[in-house]
Amino acid sequence: MNDLARNLLLWLVVAIVLTMVFQNFSGGPGGTREVSYNDFIEEVKAGRIQKVDIAPNGLRINATRKDGSTLVTGNPRDDRLNDTLLDNGVVVNQALPSDSIWGSLFISLLPVLLLVGVWIYFMRQMQQGGGRGAMSFGRSKAKLMSEDQIKVTFADVAGCDEAKEEVAELVEFLRDPGKFQKLGGKIPRGVLMVGPPGTGKTLLARAIAGEAKVPFFSISGSDFVEMFVGVGASRVRDMFETAKKHAPCIIFIDEIDAVGRHRGAGLGGGHDEREQTLNQMLVEMDGFEGGEGVIVIAATNRPDVLDPALLRPGRFDRQVVVGLPDVKGREQILKVHMRKVPLADDVVPMTIARGTPGFSGADLANLVNEAALFAARENAKLVRMEHFDKARDKILMGAERRSMAMSEEEKRLTAYHEAGHAIVGRLVPEHDPVYKVTIIPRGRALGVTMYLPEGDRYSHNRTQIESMLCSLYGGRVAEELIFGADKVTTGASNDIERATKMARNMVTKWGLSDELGPIAYAEDEGEVFLGRTVAQTKNVSDETARRIDEVVRGILDRAYARTTQILKDNMDKLHLMAEALLTYETIDAQQIDAIMEGRRPGPPADWGKTGGSSPAPDGEEPPAGAPIGPAAPQA
Ligand code: ADP
Ligand code: MG
Ligand code: ZN
Repeated sequence: MNDLARNLLLWLVVAIVLTMVFQNFSGGPGGTREVSYNDFIEEVKAGRIQKVDIAPNGLRINATRKDGSTLVTGNPRDDRLNDTLLDNGVVVNQALPSDSIWGSLFISLLPVLLLVGVWIYFMRQMQQGGGRGAMSFGRSKAKLMSEDQIKVTFADVAGCDEAKEEVAELVEFLRDPGKFQKLGGKIPRGVLMVGPPGTGKTLLARAIAGEAKVPFFSISGSDFVEMFVGVGASRVRDMFETAKKHAPCIIFIDEIDAVGRHRGAGLGGGHDEREQTLNQMLVEMDGFEGGEGVIVIAATNRPDVLDPALLRPGRFDRQVVVGLPDVKGREQILKVHMRKVPLADDVVPMTIARGTPGFSGADLANLVNEAALFAARENAKLVRMEHFDKARDKILMGAERRSMAMSEEEKRLTAYHEAGHAIVGRLVPEHDPVYKVTIIPRGRALGVTMYLPEGDRYSHNRTQIESMLCSLYGGRVAEELIFGADKVTTGASNDIERATKMARNMVTKWGLSDELGPIAYAEDEGEVFLGRTVAQTKNVSDETARRIDEVVRGILDRAYARTTQILKDNMDKLHLMAEALLTYETIDAQQIDAIMEGRRPGPPADWGKTGGSSPAPDGEEPPAGAPIGPAAPQA
């Protein structure tokens, strides 16, 4: 929880206490009239009072009138009160005094005490910072892990050997700063880890602490930002103070881009909280003499938005790039995570690594975990290769949503849409092979066509990009050809968006259009809201902007026309594949191969397995237990 939650809680408690106090002072439930003692006695004498309740201390009298209404009054210690009441036939209830004033005080205060107790309890909880074994210190939100709490070592970080080599020196230094200095080593102060999300930056930072056996302070950039105005800077000071006392140690600032953005970039004007925090951080880092033995490691996946001041000498002047793993790296990462699961003999990490280009370390960890879950669901003792395949599909395409009800019409439309993607994808040059098509809704999509690059790819050529534009349009074009222009659906919105973005990048960023040539017309977009792009996007004239739009439009029009031609020429295959999809819902590479040769495909490899991934044709679900024969697909 953060300061905001804490303060809200505080105000809540105050509000509740106040309400209760006021309720005690005001005379109980509504409908009660407060009267003077004289009036009260008048009422009694007039015989209008039926009964009275006298408080334990005798000072407060609640009276009920014969008509049901109630009065309340104070008793000015009138000796004759009892006689008056009894003479007039009023029922008198005198409450017994409780043991002591403290007792009654306690009882009336009990709810308040309870609330305060609960509040203190929550404060304690929050102070502990949530994390198990983590302990918070001072007013800083950073978490401290002592040297024996960190179990991560370099052995747990795989597939980024260069990065590991680069930071090995830090370990050396942290182990014995004095010795390192005597040997004339230049002491690093700040190290910036740069790389896409999930590549193991956080993991590597902890591994450095684990290897060097030093304490590890960690805080996330967004924690600073959440703080109230004026607090961020003092937290930074706090954190550095405490860290110096624990030296040698590591301060780890995750997601530093949250605080470290260009100063003056925010839309709300310059002097904001973030800026003060950032300034304080720079001051602290400059204040290092070098002998402290504190190393600041920061991580980000947006180095481009960082304030240049952070990268100056003496600050985060050393950068360690942690990139996406290549096939060898993926194999090693898989092996690290597979240590914890029981594997069947058919599992070959290298095969999985080949089929997962573009996966980060976190994706691979997730893959192993999902595979183990699939195995557990089947009560299998070992995790088999098929579980890994299912897990990969789930990660790539989102979880299957079999329960989602689609109308027949929608299913047909989706089948043609996906078949359109797949067929075009198979026919255009240099396109990643299509290996699976499904009309089972997954994630937010109604159907999915899956492509898998054959190897790791770090760049794309123009042919490949133009081919991708065509396969993206394949879905929409198929819908239009089969159902007519007025029946096309919104289902292609994501395809269109991606195609448009790609074409625009071709023109403005990648220099892939003949008309406008190899000139960059756009700053790196994204983060338009906070980043500096707001001010600088306008570096093209209106005339150029219009030209860009024209050229983009031309590229897209050509791709659309080409796609239409491809599908018109291959109508037979389009029908065959849509039919196969309506029958089997998911078709695999072999079936697609058959269709592309103009043959009607057989059932998929795992067709007919009970509980397999392909259900019977819909509407004809056979009774449970009955074998599903390799029925010939219906037209
Ligand atoms: P980042 O900080 O770069 O976003 P993390 O370090 O938080 O990534 O990685 C998340 C998880 O993914 C790790 O806890 C680990 O289980 C797994 N992981 C990521 N990269 C690797 C790697 N190189 N080797 C082993 N596991 C990794
Ligand atoms: Mg991280
Ligand atoms: Zn689509």
